[in-house]
Amino acid sequence: MVALTDIATGDEVNVSYLSVGELKSNVHVRQTKLKTTWGVDCMCSKCASDIAKAESNSQATARVATQRQETVDVRNRAETKRRADNAGKQRIHNRYH
Ligand SMILES: [Zn+2]
Repeated sequence: MVALTDIATGDEVNVSYLSVGELKSNVHVRQTKLKTTWGVDCMCSKCASDIAKAESNSQATARVATQRQETVDVRNRAETKRRADNAGKQRIHNRYH
């Protein structure tokens, strides 16, 4: 192990549980690596922040999906109404012609 800076007496020395590459990976990869290798459920500020962002994005994605479904539902109702109107007009047409 090599220190990148001088270490004074009393300085705190930390060793990362993850490699430099793993530190740059997404929270899911980091959490999985920490859990499987060290048995750690990491709740550091970076993981907590990334999890909150992922949940926020997931909720936003769910909202967009709901809005899209609502749009489809409105279109389907409009199409159903148009067909019913056309069927009604056809019945009236058949009655009088
Ligand atoms: Zn973490």
